Amino acid sequence: MSFKDVEKQLDYFRYSRDEVHGYSKAVGNLLDLSIHYVPDAEKAFAEGREAIWSGINGWEIPLIYANGIIPVSFSEMGRFAGVEAITIAEDHYQFPQETCSMVKCVVGEWHLRKDQAASIKRVLGSSVACEPYNMAWEIIKKDGYEVYNIDVMYRAPGVEGERLDQLVEFFIEQIHGVQAWLTGSRAINEPKLKVEIERKNRLLTKVRRILDLRLKHPFYIRSLPTIYLLNGLNTYFGKPEEFEAAVDLLIDELENAKEENEPRQVIPLVWVGGTGQEFGVYEAIDQAGGALLGFRNVPFKLYREDVPPVEALARYMFDNQNAGASIYVQQVVEQEIEKVKARGLILQGVLGCSYSTIAREMWREYFHQKGIPSINLEGTFQFGAPSGQLVTRTKAFIEMLS
Ligand code: SF4
Repeated sequence: MSFKDVEKQLDYFRYSRDEVHGYSKAVGNLLDLSIHYVPDAEKAFAEGREAIWSGINGWEIPLIYANGIIPVSFSEMGRFAGVEAITIAEDHYQFPQETCSMVKCVVGEWHLRKDQAASIKRVLGSSVACEPYNMAWEIIKKDGYEVYNIDVMYRAPGVEGERLDQLVEFFIEQIHGVQAWLTGSRAINEPKLKVEIERKNRLLTKVRRILDLRLKHPFYIRSLPTIYLLNGLNTYFGKPEEFEAAVDLLIDELENAKEENEPRQVIPLVWVGGTGQEFGVYEAIDQAGGALLGFRNVPFKLYREDVPPVEALARYMFDNQNAGASIYVQQVVEQEIEKVKARGLILQGVLGCSYSTIAREMWREYFHQKGIPSINLEGTFQFGAPSGQLVTRTKAFIEMLS
């Protein structure tokens, strides 16, 4: 298979695994875990395992695994979504055409699954997401889905001390509410949660090691598997042990990779976007000699192990770049630019997302004043052939940086 035969995202995964990274068993394992994540979780559910659809915000996943339940990231469904899912969202549910395609894909896919014999019907959402998702939660209830939402979680700039402690306390209460929804009891098995937090910290440390090794071997893992390494760090692809084994193997491969095999020229870039579906852009970056070495979602903090595990979940959220205000992301991006000596930023978002549109403009302006060039890209979430215009603009931007 060559890139010109790629028509949808699963094709691109296979192309990346077999043609681009054929030399790396670890990358192959990682991409396979990603490809099989949702279907395998649905199969496990049909065979009697507990599974729920979930967001991936850093507090849910360790909690869900600690209860022996498989968390299935609903945003991963975008990989299967296409015209049919979008049409359902627009025609059946009357989502306006300009609504973010991520939400339309997810809702369409849920609709397509609603009558399957063993369909995962419980959804752990969050009202912190955005208005389109808030609409989605209400709509899918009518299709027989059971949705549980936590309240808004937001740390404004300058919130410290007692006010921060109050936010943490409030969030801990909400985590117990989720536990009651998951299991019927508010009581959380703290030893099990502690094991999951230790696992997460171990994985965060290992993925950081991979990202550091990539500074020496920037082309060993190209854009797609790097993005999905970070996705896996958020979800573990429903198979935590197998994900950790793939990460260990990748570290081993990178530590033993020969430097002379690397192309000499590299254009270091920071990816300030989602970890989603825009594979045409990843390919354009790779083809133009760019390397995504820094990330807005870089795992730069560990969960605290000196406080009770439930508090550790809450504090991790408020102490991290996704605490709410865009300024937190900006600070992380700034550190990443410095660390990887980036020559440019790729600001990427989903068409129709008013939130990221504003944030991206803020970041563009801020980094422009600091002399860091950026490109602002908007794509769609569902599969389809890579969008020609995005690919051309991305290539032109990277060529300009070289
Ligand atoms: S891309 Fe924006 S609008 Fe779409 S789901 Fe995410 S936050 Fe909401």
